[in-house]
Amino acid sequence: MFDYLIVGAGLYGAVFAQKAKSTGKRVLVIDKRSNIAGNIYTENIEGINFHKYGAHIFHTNNTEVWNYINQFSSFNRFTNSPVANYKGELYSLPFNMYTFNKIWGVVSPCEALEMIEKQKEEITGEPCNLEEQAISLVGRDIYEKLIKGYTEKQWGRACKDLPAFIIKRLPVRFTFDNNYFNALYQGIPIGGYTKLVENLLDGIEVRLNQDYLINKAEYDALADKVIFTGAIDEYFDYCLGNLEYRSIRFENEILDTSNFQGNAVVNYTDMETPWTRIIEHKWFEFGKDEYGNDIPKTIISREYSTEWKPGDEAYYPVNDEKNSKLYQRYKELAEKEKYVIFGGRLGEYKYYDMDAVIASALSLSKLELE
Ligand code: UDP
Repeated sequence: MFDYLIVGAGLYGAVFAQKAKSTGKRVLVIDKRSNIAGNIYTENIEGINFHKYGAHIFHTNNTEVWNYINQFSSFNRFTNSPVANYKGELYSLPFNMYTFNKIWGVVSPCEALEMIEKQKEEITGEPCNLEEQAISLVGRDIYEKLIKGYTEKQWGRACKDLPAFIIKRLPVRFTFDNNYFNALYQGIPIGGYTKLVENLLDGIEVRLNQDYLINKAEYDALADKVIFTGAIDEYFDYCLGNLEYRSIRFENEILDTSNFQGNAVVNYTDMETPWTRIIEHKWFEFGKDEYGNDIPKTIISREYSTEWKPGDEAYYPVNDEKNSKLYQRYKELAEKEKYVIFGGRLGEYKYYDMDAVIASALSLSKLELE
């Protein structure tokens, strides 16, 4: 008999499992995949830590989270500075003086600010969708070239129909600073994310290839409480209808060249290019293998954003009004499940970054275990 059955060996489940075990609880972790680490899973191929379910760059302002996770891995000094490719023109991201200079030829912060002030006059009142929010942050020119196409490809919805908060994730700076994140701490775990999760799960029983929802009663009988980190609507057999997610199809290639695009992330922000971005995995670790040697080959992944349908992997919850309302109804059902706690990106239907997932698992463990 276990105190906790944790469904899902991703980051949320692994952090809670680690905390529970450290307070003497008996813990069992199960996952339907044949690997641990959920969507942060990495696999070493040709000396490169390949991010199989999409690139993950750890960043946080939360010192408690940073100190906690550093117990399980060291992090390198990677700083994300993606490049945007708009019909062959290259721009720096996030929006900063390099971007403003390239787009308008402006040289000083004052001139850049003036351009934006002028362009945002078309938005009067509080921005109420992503398009209005974007224009009021950076003006129409940047919206058209660097935001509209990318966002509509990524979400499969018009910018007018998307919530404003999504674009607020990106910094806008009047300095020459290409660091994508406003974070005190940033980096990639040395040795890969899978190793990090392996360390979190050290000494904990993990059973893979286990489909909880198919054998629910049997699994429930194993533990006093369940931490469920799968999709909340799937848990309830979609009885209120399904929540919408975005999924990603990856086209991966191993190339016999040492440098394909010169950067880990290149976003394709026009509408004509069908993929949203290309990841060149080796640059998350400066092109070196674990022994510090240059890697002769490279692995690239083209990402195609798709609407999720049952059976696909869910990546992004679509937190628009319709889905948020439906989620609230599922949440009410969830609250009635006395012995089940729902957590993580899918369990809470929330566009969580990794640090927020850890913070949330840590706060659950304080509530549950202290
Ligand atoms: N975004 C954009 N252009 C870009 C990169 C991002 O318009 O070149 C917008 C887009 O709406 C996206 C949001 O910013 O959904 C958040 O991007 P982020 O890079 O945080 O997404 P993630 O890394 O989670 O996929």
